[in-house]
Amino acid sequence: MDADLDGADSGWQIVEDGFDPVLANTYETLFTTGNGYLGTRGSLEEGHEGALPGTFLRGVFDHHDSAVIDLVKAPDWVALEIVVNGVKLDVTSGSIVRHRRVLDLREGSLSRETVFSDSEGRRTRIESIRFASSADEHLCCLRARVTPENHTASISVHSAIDATVHNLDRRPFYADPPPADPQMKWHKWAKSRHLDEVARAGFPDGVYLETRTIDTGITIGYAAGTTVSAPAEQEFAERYKHVGQRSRMRVAAGETIVVEKLVTIYTSRDVAAENVGRAAQDELRRHRNAGFAASRERNRAAWAAKWADSDVTIDGDEDATRAVRFSIYELLIAANESDSRVNIGANALTGERYRGHAFWDTEVFMLPFFVYTQPETARALLLYRYHTLDGARQNARDTGFRGARYAWESADTGVEETPKWTIDGAHRIWMGEEEIHITSAVAYGLIAYVAATGDHALMTRYGAEVLFETSRFWADRLEATPDGRYVLSRVVGPDEFHEHVDNSAYTNYLVRWHLQQAARVYAELSDSDAPELAALSGRMGLAREEVRDWLDKAEQIRLPSVDDDGVIEQFDGYFGLATLPVEHDDNDMPRYPPGYHHYNLAGTKLLKQADVVMLTYVLPDEFPDEVKLANYEYYEPLTLHKSSLSPATHSIMSIEVGDPGRAVQYFRRAATVDLVDNQGNTEEGVHIASAGGTWQMMVNGFGGFRVRNGQMTFKPWLPPDWKAIAFRLKWHGNTLSVSADHTAATFVLSAPEGCHETILVHGREVVLPANAEVVVGLDRE
Ligand code: BGC
Ligand code: BGC
Repeated sequence: MDADLDGADSGWQIVEDGFDPVLANTYETLFTTGNGYLGTRGSLEEGHEGALPGTFLRGVFDHHDSAVIDLVKAPDWVALEIVVNGVKLDVTSGSIVRHRRVLDLREGSLSRETVFSDSEGRRTRIESIRFASSADEHLCCLRARVTPENHTASISVHSAIDATVHNLDRRPFYADPPPADPQMKWHKWAKSRHLDEVARAGFPDGVYLETRTIDTGITIGYAAGTTVSAPAEQEFAERYKHVGQRSRMRVAAGETIVVEKLVTIYTSRDVAAENVGRAAQDELRRHRNAGFAASRERNRAAWAAKWADSDVTIDGDEDATRAVRFSIYELLIAANESDSRVNIGANALTGERYRGHAFWDTEVFMLPFFVYTQPETARALLLYRYHTLDGARQNARDTGFRGARYAWESADTGVEETPKWTIDGAHRIWMGEEEIHITSAVAYGLIAYVAATGDHALMTRYGAEVLFETSRFWADRLEATPDGRYVLSRVVGPDEFHEHVDNSAYTNYLVRWHLQQAARVYAELSDSDAPELAALSGRMGLAREEVRDWLDKAEQIRLPSVDDDGVIEQFDGYFGLATLPVEHDDNDMPRYPPGYHHYNLAGTKLLKQADVVMLTYVLPDEFPDEVKLANYEYYEPLTLHKSSLSPATHSIMSIEVGDPGRAVQYFRRAATVDLVDNQGNTEEGVHIASAGGTWQMMVNGFGGFRVRNGQMTFKPWLPPDWKAIAFRLKWHGNTLSVSADHTAATFVLSAPEGCHETILVHGREVVLPANAEVVVGLDRE
């Protein structure tokens, strides 16, 4: 097969050995290939009973037929059926002699080898490899080799574009857990239709299919060209929403035919609707002239460049390295720098869960990875918030406030898209109204980006408007009390078990910080960019007094009470709630107490996910070490980790407060969330926030990296079984390579000669000259 399965590459490979129908949908998620423009689940080319294939194009949303706006399941470009002696080869009806697939993280490709046998013992081998090109984001490539191993066969290859796809809606109508029986699995879901066919065509060696989303009117064009290495009878095959090429030939025993399928995709988000077809077909022609092998080389080179900036390694633990790399791979296929009008959904482009909507997951969990390894992509993600400012203004207006309030769930326009009811209709979802801390996450992302990149122009041109409009919202949303203080009632903090709470510690601290940052940026701009500030202030009707009011309100925000031990009350009245014993499952992870679930824990102290502990992580300078420790010790035993966002934060904070034993346990849980499916729903998409959290565990947790007063600081700590870790950080246009073992940390600043950077390592100042290796001992005395 295409992947080289020997030892040297195994730290770069995710392997499926044998076909297990129960795990098949999970592998479809894990084996997603993509490039930030699109993601294609790792379904078998010919499909299987119970398959959940899907290609998702960034930014292509549609409302039609579904209760809440969906990231549209776009036409399938992979479809390839091989018929041998009149029988279609597939894993459901055929007998499988051997089946193995490998996701190669290094070059972003999925390869496969399956050997089928029929009732007369005739064996046919299929090998395939596919990828969505990271060098040419509109291009997808698939190559298959077909070998009748011990028989001469009549073979028919059917290569198609299939738009008979639909999104799934609502829960299945049967009781939980959903049956594993592939015949039943997805059939009973309600289906939402989002695509109409607009045009189809066949041309020599290729086909074209154009569809359009029903409500949003986005035109989607796929051009596909398939070549077969042997002389074949060719036929154009079409039916509604489906076009293909069929090639028939005879193949001698032991001979191999090679099928190459190149597909190009354009939408009216890329070019004018009437030019979509031409753009796709022109681009297809160009790549076909170059050929599959050249396309693969270009893709490999693009991946090599990405990994050079992003790889993180753990010497002494290959499994952990592979898990970390898988997380980074997921982040690298989730977004790229070329589109600043899209964001990353909670399952990225790997599945339909959360319908492609973006949450605070982006800024708080994923953005740090991009800021420090792919800053242009970070910039594009932040610009999305700028481009959806009108939607955020509408959210504020719709709830009676001034300024801009970012949506808890955001899709194409930034208007609030959180569903109001759970999918079974049993519970009201309040997050769209109450989980307002998302707005401060946007500020958090902007400030972190500018601090690391020095890209002040982004702040002047775009960020300031976001900060000021959102501060205007907070200033209006804060409620005055008779004693001259300000409170925020009826909110949901990160811990979603508790709704309608007053004065969430996380929210109030972040709002205070947000208002202070906005005032600081205002003051800085009045020094450095006065004309731009004047123009913006004019547009917004913003006067200096309003900014002063933000600061006054920030000072007067009621922060929750702190007990004698330094424990911050999660929200008003939390300390009076009931305590319940927490039991652990076989995996040593907490479970719901008997009789309890997400919706009836409000009267208890149990938390869904890190909340006050999260606060002490995102605002590290606000709290002394003893307070961080006290809150970690108090809240950690009460936390059920029912969100995949929770373990990574606990891993990082356990290191910071000196409970490193738990750090490794939490690290494994977060880093392997999808590889071992420990949340039980990987089949519906990857937990991309946890992937971002995994990068942060490596860099901010074990690497102990924080930015303090505009300076890089490090406090590396490694688990006893690890020999060393290594990672890279981009900082103000330069690159810092960091590695650490148990006794020393090594830094190399790649920068123009003459530059230097002063960092802190365990509190000691270290000067890093450009392009020299600096080794710092890690004795902590
Ligand atoms: C999540 C919420 C989300 C809701 C609707 C819940 O599972 O916890 O954050 O808003 O689903 O998508
Ligand atoms: C979590 C949220 C998160 C959302 C999307 C929910 O279960 O509670 O914090 O933003 O999932 O990942």
